[in-house]
Amino acid sequence: MEIIDIDEKVHCDFCNEGEDSMGGVIVGSNAVCGKCTKKYEYDKPDYKYADEIGVIFDKKKTFKENVLQYRELMYGSRNGTIEIMPFSDFEEINT
Ligand SMILES: [Zn+2]
Repeated sequence: MEIIDIDEKVHCDFCNEGEDSMGGVIVGSNAVCGKCTKKYEYDKPDYKYADEIGVIFDKKKTFKENVLQYRELMYGSRNGTIEIMPFSDFEEINT
């Protein structure tokens, strides 16, 4: 497995943007920006799949600030990483 350091870049896993939107949520392993959170109503307490929401970020902070803080808390670093899995590994996991 190859791991690429993406530094302090933050992007929404849904729209690939959203750095400057406010709030956001963590759904499973996805970081979702404030705009998409609003769009899909992830922050509503009566959201159908509310148990899939890991973290609801502070709406007074930008998505970027929130994600960097979350990374620091979870992984001890503000730098993000992307794991690139070779196809052979992928096959092994799925067989
Ligand atoms: Zn988004």
